[in-house]
Amino acid sequence: MSGFISALLDGDLTALRTIPKADLHNHLLLGMPRDRLSAISGREIVPFQYTGQGIQDINNWIRTQYVPLLQLPAILPKLVEAAFQQALDDGVTVLEASIDAGFGHLYGIPASELVEALRKAHQEIAPHIDFSPCLGFSRSKPVRQLLRYFEPFLDLNYFTAIDLYDDELFQPIQNFREIYRFARQQGLRCTAHAGEFGTAEEVREAVEVLGLDAVQHGIAAASSPDVMRWLSDRGTTLNICPTSNLVLKRVHSYATHPIRILFDHGVKVTINTDDVALFNRGVSEEFLSLFQAGVLSAEELENIRGLGVNAS
Ligand SMILES: [Zn+2]
Repeated sequence: MSGFISALLDGDLTALRTIPKADLHNHLLLGMPRDRLSAISGREIVPFQYTGQGIQDINNWIRTQYVPLLQLPAILPKLVEAAFQQALDDGVTVLEASIDAGFGHLYGIPASELVEALRKAHQEIAPHIDFSPCLGFSRSKPVRQLLRYFEPFLDLNYFTAIDLYDDELFQPIQNFREIYRFARQQGLRCTAHAGEFGTAEEVREAVEVLGLDAVQHGIAAASSPDVMRWLSDRGTTLNICPTSNLVLKRVHSYATHPIRILFDHGVKVTINTDDVALFNRGVSEEFLSLFQAGVLSAEELENIRGLGVNAS
């Protein structure tokens, strides 16, 4: 029996944390536990509370709890280090994590400084982690503005993927076709959030229009056997974040999480954190929660873990 399977059967979180795992849906600057965020900032951070307003609630928490920390001197390297430390403590060996392309622009941090902070923290804290830095774009901003954010990163040749997130309903996915075509030409892996608040058809549309290699969330696909068959045939991976879905009331419980349906329809899935600062769960806890809720067997979870660590 593998160490991972026996750790699940024993409910042994400490052992689970020592076993290699992937985290492929991770917003890096929110990738540390809230108590770590308090420790490095010296501020009290109020826990995230969902009030039913979708992504707006997350944006409000970021605005009131997180953005004020960015005024603190030399905070950026500490935030980045804390995210790598969390990945290390959780046994993450394959990390694909995004940084918002507009972040530096908003807080007066040059692209080169941002890249340097990432490079340094990766090398100093967890050089063995297979790290794919992903440049994130907000769906709530005009494409012209996103292209302006993109530009300073191009020469740095550091990022290996792109992601699209924020309000799924703000503007049509077609608006982003060109930016994705351009990113693909640059050799970047293409991912985007879809089907978290949207529909199964919107998952298919995002994959088709943007030519996605992987979908962040994509859980709405579980309502359509047709879309699931299509995703399965295409071999598109959905990077699932169970606790995020639960807290944001996309699902009622771990026990009823649609990862079971997606898995049974042959859709490739991985298990990830999304935002550790908001949801307070590492990948190890996500696996254990799904196992203890009876959603997937230990063997099935072992297969999913294997898919994640062999994804790159
Ligand atoms: Zn996300």
